[in-house]
Amino acid sequence: MSRAATKPPIDWTETLNEAALWHDFGDFIQWFHVQAPGLPDPDQQEYVEFQDNLSFMRSQAACLYFGLEADVEAINAKLKTVALTINAERCAGTRLPALLDMADGESILRQLFGGLLVQFAGYAADTLVSGCCNLYRCQGLYRDQQGMPFSAMDVQLKSLERRYRSEIALLQDNDLVDDAGIQRCFDFFIGRPKARFCSDTCRFNTFQITKQFNDPDYLAEKQRRYRKKLRT
Ligand SMILES: [Zn+2]
Repeated sequence: MSRAATKPPIDWTETLNEAALWHDFGDFIQWFHVQAPGLPDPDQQEYVEFQDNLSFMRSQAACLYFGLEADVEAINAKLKTVALTINAERCAGTRLPALLDMADGESILRQLFGGLLVQFAGYAADTLVSGCCNLYRCQGLYRDQQGMPFSAMDVQLKSLERRYRSEIALLQDNDLVDDAGIQRCFDFFIGRPKARFCSDTCRFNTFQITKQFNDPDYLAEKQRRYRKKLRT
């Protein structure tokens, strides 16, 4: 059994979290090879379409979270085109969900997106009915540009991302909401409001950035100590 098959199938939140880290087709293909070993590579055009579809899902998830009007009509229109079927054989040994959308052509990414869309639509419907949203986002901050660059987002995503950034007191208090040099981690969790960070790395990076703003000498001092250590 391949390593991919021992983990649970990918779902819509994990896919959004991963997609935020793809800077180009090469990053995506690396991810795809791990999730779906042995399946033929999608081409660049399929990748661009998949990214567009995921951006749509990302912006709708943000609307639900912030209590803005979600585009239910557009979600329904996409749902109408989906015909999920069980593809146990094709998905064996991969992390693809075995319910794939076989309505439209051979593109594995279209088939995968149909499956993810149905998962997302279930979440959206529950959120709209209950009026409470349990999709939380990591409160981690980064200085490097490992995630989707804030400056390169389209107008809609950027304005939603500004809202996510405005939730972080450090960015608000230091006038950094529009500063593309600091990113908020893109990881989502479902139903874990107390988990503020997705990982120890995120916790550590955020601690360092916070410390630096509270005490601007902190980093300089740390570097001095490091250099001293190297000399001794
Ligand atoms: Zn994080």
